[in-house]
Amino acid sequence: VGLDGVPMFENDGSYRGMLFLLQDITAIRRLENIRSEFVANVSHELKTPVAAVKGFAETLLSGAVKDEETVRSFLQIIYDEGDRLNRLIGDILELSKIESKRSNLDCSPVHLHSFFDMVIGTLSNEAEKKQIRLLVDVPNELFMEADEDKLKQIFLNLISNGINYTLEGGQVKIQASIDKNEGEEKIVFQISDTGIGIPKADLPRVFERFYRVDKGRSRNSGGTGLGLSIVKHLVELHHGTLMVESELGTGTTFTVVLPLLQEHADEE
Ligand code: ADP
Repeated sequence: VGLDGVPMFENDGSYRGMLFLLQDITAIRRLENIRSEFVANVSHELKTPVAAVKGFAETLLSGAVKDEETVRSFLQIIYDEGDRLNRLIGDILELSKIESKRSNLDCSPVHLHSFFDMVIGTLSNEAEKKQIRLLVDVPNELFMEADEDKLKQIFLNLISNGINYTLEGGQVKIQASIDKNEGEEKIVFQISDTGIGIPKADLPRVFERFYRVDKGRSRNSGGTGLGLSIVKHLVELHHGTLMVESELGTGTTFTVVLPLLQEHADEE
């Protein structure tokens, strides 16, 4: 609680008493804490790949490693960690853009079947490497109004997580259907995988920035820990909701519910 006191005087200048202003600053403090925690997390996440790049480059520069194969493997690590830094910086910038509300929706009609063909095309190499089947069950007549770039980011993130956290030979299924309940028409998307699943205790936290159930696995798969928080923001920007259900060792389903049409509040 913030406390401010000022003396009060009568019209004739005589002292009347003190006026105290009590202000609940819990929300402001909480925001400050979140912000400084975020900066600490960002620094930590950036330091790890930078340390690896420096360390391996130093070893190579010292001339201690002569064997060509080892040199190559060190260079590969430097390249991969550089790549990881690039992705981290990209995700951090993306998140800060969305959170500072500088991000607006640029909506147009999206034909969902063609849209998912394009999204799946981008991920087919990744899936083939692990022999993971990508199944799409999206009726051909479905159209919705959305910001296509942002919609793409939502589903690229969810489907590539499905691929990353599913063992070889598994499956990731994408379904879309229309829900006409409660007046407003909505599109319900489900991305389900036959992967490793998420422990119950971790489920409520997976949308937090940098939260990872298994840091090692996430890092190996190239994860930044920011994907799902970006997805959540983008879904909310579309006035939608995002849910997750999971069974450890069996698989995970993310459900995204988006309005069929966006309100054009800014145009009224
Ligand atoms: P990351 O870049 O680490 O994948 P995300 O924000 O996309 O970060 O996801 C946060 C964490 O949630 C992941 O590290 C992983 O532990 C868990 N997770 C996300 N999607 C899945 C999934 N489909 N199956 C199992 N775990 C998942």
